[in-house]
Parts: sequence; structure tokens; C-alpha cells
Amino acid sequence: MRIITLFSGSGGNAALVCARGASVLVDCGRSARAFLRALDEAGEPLPDAVFVTHEHSDHISGLEMLSKKFALPVHMTEPTARRAILRGGWLERAAVVHGSLFTVEVGPLVVRSFIAPHDSAMNVGYVFEDAETGERAGVVTDLGAATPEVYAALCGCRSALIECNHDTAMLASGPYPAELKRRIASPRGHLCNDDCASLAVALAKSGATLLGLAHISRENNTPDAALGCVRGALYASGFADVCVVAAAPDRPTVITDGERESVAI
Ligand SMILES: [Zn+2]
Ligand SMILES: [Zn+2]
Repeated sequence: MRIITLFSGSGGNAALVCARGASVLVDCGRSARAFLRALDEAGEPLPDAVFVTHEHSDHISGLEMLSKKFALPVHMTEPTARRAILRGGWLERAAVVHGSLFTVEVGPLVVRSFIAPHDSAMNVGYVFEDAETGERAGVVTDLGAATPEVYAALCGCRSALIECNHDTAMLASGPYPAELKRRIASPRGHLCNDDCASLAVALAKSGATLLGLAHISRENNTPDAALGCVRGALYASGFADVCVVAAAPDRPTVITDGERESVAI
């Protein structure tokens, strides 16, 4: 099972999870044209289905055009659909709206959603399980806190893409207005490096060997600070062999343990 981010951060998010000929997309937060360009750069085919985390524009802005062009099924929860997409007719044609949490099969993949706290109508992460081998991969971004539910959903995944949004000191001393700083740091905001590192250690304890760091802030973090924090915590806990990769904001990144550093295509 492979995770590839096409872009990652407040400028737009999209991640592919691929296994045995099946490919699913989590979010499409840039234009359909930017998405298709990134997909081509990554050398990946069109996904079989799309799964939406929440309605913020950096996660859905390319979805309407994408679903019109390719008639892909777009799975989302009802609160997300209600808040985001009721304008226009594409919802009826493309969206598969689930009342709340849901499980869907896409070829060999079983996809399960779980709640991630965030200041949206609802926000979900996803766990993807290869029905044949039992291997699991998880994707979660935009979470203010790694709750017990998040831990429970992701534990047992061999690989995971998790948010590593900001360094708390950089956020505190950075240029954002006070209200926005409060929002980002709140339990319904974004995950800081330290909390991401704690989650990474828990995942390593439950067998994860490969972690991708997503939604890294350009203003309140750096890839080096995010990687240093998470790798330092893993090293201190005896998991120095876990591979950690930082997702690039603007280009495809393969989350792979073939390399120690981010692999830009
Ligand atoms: Zn976001
Ligand atoms: Zn968001």
C-alpha cells in the first residue's frame, strides 16, 4: 500500500492511497487542472473514488470540476455536504453522502472514516485496509487534538499520513493575528509538532514503520522543525528505525521508506 501526496498545506491538499491496482484520493483542494498536472507528475492514474475530510476550501476547491469531468464517486459525510456543496447540481450526480461515519469498499480496499476534531461542520480521517493482506494505512489532517478516537483508529496502521501543522513557539511569535493564533492552537484547530510527535510514537509502538507529515505550515513551521521534532521523539522512545517523510506543499511526495528524505518527483 502506498501513500502519495500531490500537494499538502493551507494552499491545498490531496493525497492518494494505492493498493493492488486500486487508487483512492483524499481531498482535492486545488483546481482540477492543478490536480491533473500533479497526478501526471506522479505517474499515477485517475483514482477510483474520492473521500472528503471536510468542507474547507483547501480540501475541496477542485472537487466540483473533477467530479464533473470524470464522474468519480465523491464520498463525504452529510454535515460536510450540507455546509459545502449544496450550491449547484453536481452534488446529486457525484456525491455519495453518508449520514455520519461510514465504511466503503473500493476494489481491494476497505475504507473507514473516523472523527478528527476541527472547526468545520465535521472532519474525518480515513483508515484504508487491504482486505486480502490486512495491511492498513491511515490519513488524517486538520485536527486540533489527537483524541483517543484518533489514536484508536490509527493504531495498527503500518503507514500513516498525519498532520504536523505548526511549531507552538513559531506560532506564538509569528505574524498571525491573535484570534487566528488562538483558532489554530485550539483543540479544534491544527495539530502542533509536539502532539504529532506523541501520536507518531504511539503509532510506532503499535507497529507503524512509515509516517508522512502533512499540512506543514509555511508561516509557523518548517519541514526541518517538523521532521526534527517527530524523529527526535521516535529516537528517544527507541523507534529510530521508523521512516518519517515531510510532504511537500506544491509537488508530489511519495511517502516511502525507500529514502530517508522527502522524495520529490
Ligand atoms: Zn486544511
Ligand atoms: Zn480545515
